[in-house]
Amino acid sequence: MATDFDADVIVIGSGVMGGIIAARVAKAGKKVIILESGPRVKRRDIVETYRNAPVKLSLANAKLQGVGSPYPSLPHSPSTYGDYLQQMGPVKFNTSYLRVVGGTTWHFGSALWRMIPNDFALKSKYGRGRDWPISYDELEPWYLQAEMDIGVTGTDGQDESGKGGAPYPPRSAPYPMPGLKPSHFMKKLMDRLTPGGFNPVLEASARATVPWKKRPICAGNNACNPVCPIAAKYDGSMSIDEAEGYGAQVLDNAVVHKIDVGDDRQISAIWYKRPDGSEHKLTAARYVMAAYAIESPKIMLLNKQKNAPNGIANSSDQVGRNLMDHTGISMNVMAKEDYWPGQGPTQLLTYVNNRDGDFRRDFPQYKIKVRNTTPVLSTTQKLLAKGLMGSELDAEIKRQSARSLNWAIDFETLPNPNNRVTPHPEKKDALGIPVPAIWYDVDDYWHAGKEQGLKDLYRIAELLDADVVSVDEGFQNRQHIMGTTIMGDDPADSVVDRDCRTHDHKNMFIAGTSVMPSSSCVNPTLTGAALSVRIAAEILKEI
Ligand SMILES: Cc1cc2nc3c(=O)[nH]c(=O)nc-3n(C[C@H](O)[C@H](O)[C@H](O)COP(=O)(O)OP(=O)(O)OC[C@H]3O[C@@H](n4cnc5c(N)ncnc54)[C@H](O)[C@@H]3O)c2cc1C
Repeated sequence: MATDFDADVIVIGSGVMGGIIAARVAKAGKKVIILESGPRVKRRDIVETYRNAPVKLSLANAKLQGVGSPYPSLPHSPSTYGDYLQQMGPVKFNTSYLRVVGGTTWHFGSALWRMIPNDFALKSKYGRGRDWPISYDELEPWYLQAEMDIGVTGTDGQDESGKGGAPYPPRSAPYPMPGLKPSHFMKKLMDRLTPGGFNPVLEASARATVPWKKRPICAGNNACNPVCPIAAKYDGSMSIDEAEGYGAQVLDNAVVHKIDVGDDRQISAIWYKRPDGSEHKLTAARYVMAAYAIESPKIMLLNKQKNAPNGIANSSDQVGRNLMDHTGISMNVMAKEDYWPGQGPTQLLTYVNNRDGDFRRDFPQYKIKVRNTTPVLSTTQKLLAKGLMGSELDAEIKRQSARSLNWAIDFETLPNPNNRVTPHPEKKDALGIPVPAIWYDVDDYWHAGKEQGLKDLYRIAELLDADVVSVDEGFQNRQHIMGTTIMGDDPADSVVDRDCRTHDHKNMFIAGTSVMPSSSCVNPTLTGAALSVRIAAEILKEI
């Protein structure tokens, strides 16, 4: 029990990363306080708001959440679904994240991949990007624990390198739950594409396939974005519930804005603002920054002071830099037979033929996925705009909805110090805290990947005997924010060390995908979660 401090550990941010750490540290009997800028939300309210929205917020129609997100956007904790993020660079980084108890995983797709060994050694193997200071083998046991904490389903025995060979990457135990089964739509696609050399990989995910803790089995509601109506899909609120069950205290509507550094360079206190503008101070033996890869660096850069003249943990000038995503492209095709997408999980079937090999010297690794969302709404809108009515409209809606397929590619991006997040010099939120400004661009390496990826997309259309309706080469954001508090052994060019502890302040850790030195092409949350489990163990060794 903390005596000199308000808590043993203060966690800033109640998402999956903060939640995992809080639950593990609280379970060990330590006093934990979690500070969350947003409010608590109830699943039934989010579902009802979504259900009652005049236009459904489907993937196809409203670009995930769009203007009508069913999650609250409050003046003290504004949603990113508006003009909150300020775009300063040539390529828009129009990402989204939620600011509520439980965080962004409330509406994530829940694909939970492991990276592969060479993703940790990109520089030494292929002369690109950066190496991690730790290897896949070192992270493997933590991956396993994170998969248990989150409750991951996966297909054992698959070659996730996409070569159609032996099981890969190496695992020390099977997935916690058996994998989801491909739907009729996916099986039919696999039948057409496998003979063309596309080896299907069914991605691991956080949708339960057997009853798991308090979660029921996924019923295929196909509403992972924006909310799983039956809580079969994991979200961060579940780890927060667990943490509270072990005695952790959650302060919601508590916006962290100030961090004090003592003469010994340790963090000495943090400050948060309430919606009424009042300021409050708390102290702890250890601090964990887990406000995700845009808010975390923003808060750190805002806090320049005598003992941290460049901002928190920023003696290397790397805080906020090396911003990465899986910037992507996509293609819509119209098939000549019915496939009927939209039943079951929103994503599962992927192709990763270009996941590893010498080609990575020349172009990035990438993942091709087919979206399993129903295009009924967008199809109907288009047909109504064309003036179709009555039985003709009905027949055409059925035909096109069964046959339109959307293929998307996620590319690995490299850490570039010029791609960065900073506090906006002028624009502030209702509490007077600067909003994030983002500068982002893609390099020739990405463009080389795009050229390869386009060839694959057209080949897929050919194998399906489908007509290409449109191709979007326009830097689509994939909602995977990485790199902005980068990990490394050298304090001169990285923010955290191999344990995710800041080089500058020994009592502060940073949890999440912001520490990743390479992005790979796969969804990053499981890697961030594995590192978070490791942070919890590190903290428990010390207090
Ligand atoms: C539409 C969508 C789909 C996605 N799908 C996938 C997927 O399929 N697979 C995958 O791996 N990843 C996916 N992601 C990414 C995934 O959601 C993130 O990697 C993950 O949520 C990051 O967890 P986190 O705990 O670091 O941050 P968050 O979940 O964002 O939690 C951070 C918390 O910090 C709080 N906070 C922020 N600022 C402050 C402050 N000043 N004071 C106090 N608290 C603060 C926020 O309110 C928030 O609750 C998706 C993201 C989106 C938007």
